[in-house]
Amino acid sequence: MASKYQAPRGTFDVLPEAARSRARLERTAAEILTRAGYEPIATPMFEDTELFERGVGRSTDIVRKEMFTFEDKGGRSLTLRPEGTASVCRAYLEHGMHKLAQPVKLSYLGPFFRHERPQAGRYRQFHQLGVECIGTDSPLADVEVIMLLSDLLAELGVPGIELRLGSLGSLQARHDYLDALKAHLHAHEAELSSDVRERIDVNPLRAFDADDEGTRAVMESAPTIVERLEGEDAEHFAEVRALLDAAGVAYAVDSTLVRGLDYYTRTIFSFVCDRLGAQSEVGGGGRYDGLIEQLGGPPTAAIGWAAGIERILLALDEEAPGAGRDAFVAVAEAEQRQRAMVLVSELRHAGISAELDLAGRALKGQLKQADRIGARRVLILEADGGAQLRDMDSGEQRPVDPGNLVDEMTGGER
Ligand code: ATP
Ligand code: MG
Repeated sequence: MASKYQAPRGTFDVLPEAARSRARLERTAAEILTRAGYEPIATPMFEDTELFERGVGRSTDIVRKEMFTFEDKGGRSLTLRPEGTASVCRAYLEHGMHKLAQPVKLSYLGPFFRHERPQAGRYRQFHQLGVECIGTDSPLADVEVIMLLSDLLAELGVPGIELRLGSLGSLQARHDYLDALKAHLHAHEAELSSDVRERIDVNPLRAFDADDEGTRAVMESAPTIVERLEGEDAEHFAEVRALLDAAGVAYAVDSTLVRGLDYYTRTIFSFVCDRLGAQSEVGGGGRYDGLIEQLGGPPTAAIGWAAGIERILLALDEEAPGAGRDAFVAVAEAEQRQRAMVLVSELRHAGISAELDLAGRALKGQLKQADRIGARRVLILEADGGAQLRDMDSGEQRPVDPGNLVDEMTGGER
């Protein structure tokens, strides 16, 4: 029966089968990140709106259009977090982590919220896995975080992945470049889409993302920042590339790469998947050497990335394997239900996954239910106090010692 309520637009329920694929992703990520020393951090689902305005940047789509902002009962403006980096940096400063040995390496996973037009791979509540390596400008850190995401995608078996790499230079270089880019765009205003034209001075980088032909043609001849990199910025980028080469990580330099956040400096990167259509980016990130200072902290170099869990799962498009159970305890007569309950509890305490019938089925129905949930073995408690053990794969059944059922079950398992 359909309920008169549905999940809100752009949101979805994670049903058990899908939850299993997620759990596998989360386990794999936790293993990879822990081995590299990235410790979990969790921050609130909402923050002061100003944190995102400052931290993500007022010129970004996120702040201009996509935030879920509301007023609390005390009249404060709060926003459901649209991304993780600003919050993690806020926490880094709030808890004095800048006084710890640097860099501080953190990871997070959880829901994020953006008011976007829902489509495949784009939701209003979605999940990101992310890492931040805060307190170093070493190119080694850039390559360490990039390799974490490439290892994760490889370990999960995500097909068709390509790594795109770019550099925006330091804040000053980026600033000078933006002036040059704005000048180029103003010189060709008439050929640009109205959307791009209106935002030349607000966010000229977004012109690289436009899909209309006029803008594209103008962008063909636009100056790129990668070709203008000089001094330490150029050295930094060359070092990142040399380290990636040495580590055998394949990438393509993309001088038109831009990211949706204002705070990026130097290295930026994006992992795209050719199976995903329009929403092709599974994850991306970059350096944000100016952000912590902008939030009121000391000058602090940092780099990180965020990956979309749903996009990774879409790219995998896998059948989640059934969870299965070690055992099902069935009863021949209703009187043995109590015994079955006690036995199931003992089995669970012994580390065996076990279930029993909770719906009053006859023995035949119980065996069917055991099969449905993927139980490997079924213990049948018989009316005379005896017990039979049935192997569900082979169909073989043999009597077992009713006084020793837990041992009987653990013996075979371990
Ligand atoms: P896009 O270009 O797809 O809008 P973005 O530049 O907004 O991405 P980021 O802010 O860097 O993306 O977020 C990191 C990752 O989070 C993206 O690579 C993507 O996998 C995922 N992501 C971003 N927005 C959404 C969304 N609305 N729904 C699902 N996943 C998302
Ligand atoms: Mg976006």
